[in-house]
Amino acid sequence: MKILVVEDHATLAGFIRRALIEQAYSVSVAINCEMAADLLAEEKFDLVVLDIGLPDGSGLGLLRAWREAGFNEPVLILSARDAVDDRIIGLDVGADVYLAKPFQVDELLANVRALLRRRAIARKTVLTHRGLTLDLAAHTAMLNGAALELTAREFALLEIFLQNAGRILTRTFISEKIWQSHEDVDTNLLDVYMSRLRTRIETPDDKYFRTVRGVGYQLQ
Ligand code: CA
Repeated sequence: MKILVVEDHATLAGFIRRALIEQAYSVSVAINCEMAADLLAEEKFDLVVLDIGLPDGSGLGLLRAWREAGFNEPVLILSARDAVDDRIIGLDVGADVYLAKPFQVDELLANVRALLRRRAIARKTVLTHRGLTLDLAAHTAMLNGAALELTAREFALLEIFLQNAGRILTRTFISEKIWQSHEDVDTNLLDVYMSRLRTRIETPDDKYFRTVRGVGYQLQ
């Protein structure tokens, strides 16, 4: 597994690099946006650890450009800024995890492992989570062995959650995936679909979706 670490603070970059190498990952370090863009254009990476404050620009700008260019691998953002707004912007432009500095190295490694595991799952055509099974090729859904009747849009919505189980998905992220452009979508529409999905899947004792107020939803 190859990991790109984009971090301009030399000591921190070296520390992260050593911790990842100890776990048998192969690591390249970039100390600014230009170097990071070059490395990502030249080599294939399985995951990126990305600082936001870089000497020649913002990691968020870099991430936005990569996502627009079709780079789909997991990205873990590191930032001293831990304000909720920054976290949401990070998730909106396509980060998978936002880790605020200072962080524990074990926390970083646990997130890297989880993201790489999720990445492996995202490549499967059958997704499962707590008794839910979606077969993307056959386009069928099951809940605890029983067929689940879903409309095409409900299926697409559930697929996004299963591809990202445990991850908090922002309203913008979900809307852009389902309706392409969130600009055209009445924001209440997402809530309508979420409540339909909940009706089909959840029971009073068995909840699947957590509403994260002001942010979005999480499949738990
Ligand atoms: Ca920095």
